[in-house]
Amino acid sequence: MTDTPTQLFIGGAWVDAADGATMPVDDPATGEILCHVADAGPKDAKLAEEAAVQAQEAWARTAPRVRSEILRRAYEIIIERTDELAHLMTSEMGKPLAEARGEVAYAAEFFRWFSEEAVRIDGGLATLPDGRNRMLLSRRPVGPCLLITPWNFPLAMGTRKIGPAVAAGCTMLLKPAPQTPLSSLALAAILKEAGLPDGVLNVVTTSRAGEVCEPLLRGGRIRKLSFTGSTAVGQLLLAQSAEAVVRTSMELGGNAPFVVFEDADLDKAVDGAMVAKMRNMGEACTAANRFFVHRSVAEEFGRRLAERMGALVVGPGTRDGVDVGPLIDRRGRAKVEELVADAVERGAQVLVGGRTPEGAGCFYPPTVLAGVDPGSRLMDTEIFGPVAAILTFDDEDEVIRRANDTPWGLVGYVFTEGLDRALRVSERLEVGMVGLNTGLVSNPAAPFGGVKQSGLGREGGRVGIDEFLEYQYLAVPVR
Ligand code: NAD
Repeated sequence: MTDTPTQLFIGGAWVDAADGATMPVDDPATGEILCHVADAGPKDAKLAEEAAVQAQEAWARTAPRVRSEILRRAYEIIIERTDELAHLMTSEMGKPLAEARGEVAYAAEFFRWFSEEAVRIDGGLATLPDGRNRMLLSRRPVGPCLLITPWNFPLAMGTRKIGPAVAAGCTMLLKPAPQTPLSSLALAAILKEAGLPDGVLNVVTTSRAGEVCEPLLRGGRIRKLSFTGSTAVGQLLLAQSAEAVVRTSMELGGNAPFVVFEDADLDKAVDGAMVAKMRNMGEACTAANRFFVHRSVAEEFGRRLAERMGALVVGPGTRDGVDVGPLIDRRGRAKVEELVADAVERGAQVLVGGRTPEGAGCFYPPTVLAGVDPGSRLMDTEIFGPVAAILTFDDEDEVIRRANDTPWGLVGYVFTEGLDRALRVSERLEVGMVGLNTGLVSNPAAPFGGVKQSGLGREGGRVGIDEFLEYQYLAVPVR
């Protein structure tokens, strides 16, 4: 902690906010203040924007190999410092150390992946159908980007955006979530150490996100917004981006269905449920939010899931043997409590959990609710906590209709041993990603993203870099 930067990172230098403002960073396991970081205002954001704009032209001209090797070095440094980064992440976000180590590896992998993509940016040359003209296609960086990240994956949401932006030759301003600024500041220090030129990445921590970001989006110098966060904020930012026609990538909320058919292998389904529900204490956009279980296996599935959930150890993420850390803050926990109370009022049975413990820290126990009424609020709200809500269904058409009956479409999970059914159901789900007999889809080499109100564009995979590139077409007559 002692070496973690707490200032803004602008033009390659660590600086205080212009007005000297700072904001506290809390430990969600104790409620205590860990440290204070700079709290930027619009003036600081303008300076960061200026640094990114100034650095853009030279950065776009650097050799792809140079950009690639910076990312590769940063990947290696992150892996070497896994323990240090994991502790930092756990202290500001709460997830157990083992999960934090997993996130460090996941986060680093985006840098390795995009270091490999940086040198594979292609173009094209073709004679057009009329035979009189040639088409020369090249790809260039979109320009200075604004990257806005949430608190739930403090390191990986940064690398998933910074990796392709660096690979493509874009400069950027990163605005992390106010709850978890330390991981992003540590990442900036690592990229500097890896040789990233000054001004390419600027990090602005702030408690005044709206005041800081809106002028940037409307100002016309930022050419790209890459946002990960809630759908409500994403919608606001899309509207703000319209004025200067800023290109946008949006990774927004989810409301994942988890469908267990009567022919599912229940061992796989329960294992999958534990991952899809409990990764990150349920604070994931990919978290299974609605468990649709075939009536004939619902009781057995509920019993087994409750047994596994009830055996998890809840406590501070730094403590050995802890499986479930605290939720991010009191507000986040109050929302989970309200959703559970609403479901119970409407007749849900609590198979395990459901009771907030006394004491400091934002802990909430792993909870399984059975017989959930479809009208319950948690059916159309991201729970963002360790609560599995089970509903029953009778046939395939019905469950597909109910799974799709939501404005979101990020991910769905399907458990069945039938190949035809697996493919048929997956293809009919209105989602960007499907976990087939697995509770985990995230992988840096795969295109991550959703449809409907879960977002626009994809991050990771071969297409991840496309979000940061524009085509330029040269018309060249054949002489
Ligand atoms: P949030 O929308 O409250 O905040 C996300 C980021 O936006 C933060 O940095 C926040 O400071 C910033 N922000 C808030 N208001 C803003 C404004 N007016 N202008 C500019 N920036 C603003 O979301 P959160 O609570 O931090 O994260 C949880 C949400 O993120 C969930 O909905 C989750 O599903 C979603 N999420 C999505 C993905 C994905 O890839 N689809 C991944 C992780 C999280």
